[in-house]
Amino acid sequence: MYTYTCSSCREKFFLPFTDACYYLGPKPVGKQVADDDVLKVLVRHAWCRDCSSLCIAEDILALREFENAYGSARAGRSIEYPVQSEYMDEAEVVGEAKRYLRWRMLRGHVPRALCCGGSNFQFMDEPQMQIKHAECDFGFVSGSMRIGSSCGSSPGVSTPANIRLYDIDGELIGRLTWWKQDVGKWDIEPLSYLPIDDD
Ligand SMILES: [Zn+2]
Ligand SMILES: [Zn+2]
Repeated sequence: MYTYTCSSCREKFFLPFTDACYYLGPKPVGKQVADDDVLKVLVRHAWCRDCSSLCIAEDILALREFENAYGSARAGRSIEYPVQSEYMDEAEVVGEAKRYLRWRMLRGHVPRALCCGGSNFQFMDEPQMQIKHAECDFGFVSGSMRIGSSCGSSPGVSTPANIRLYDIDGELIGRLTWWKQDVGKWDIEPLSYLPIDDD
């Protein structure tokens, strides 16, 4: 788990959730989704200016990068984006690179912060950026500090998972809860972004 701290008041900030997937299956989404119809969202830690909070935001490179990655994967070369090929077998890398390329070709919306779906965010790992802590006179939020890892039984088996599910364009549509091994499907609960306050 990562934490960020304000340089002035020492307030700590945590990511409210870290796992997100796209739903690529037939529409509309039902009560369950097959594992084959979900694709992990490519994310980096970000600061959402609309929510004034830490979250994950979509890290979407140009279509060209996805085409090149797919080409490299098919030629057996290693790739780091959209998947890290290092510990995967070759056929799996090609398959995943192809799925990401297909998704990228359909993607229309600019990258979003996954807390509220807005695009008013900045990535935490861009060194020239400084994130002003709004409540502080001279505090800046910085530093990713690793404080232990989360391991244990896989989510969705003994406790419900909390994996957010988005459509191709990053619109929040649900949450994956229980993994049904026998049918290879996830149970889902409907979920959507909070309506934006116009005041
Ligand atoms: Zn502060
Ligand atoms: Zn937000």
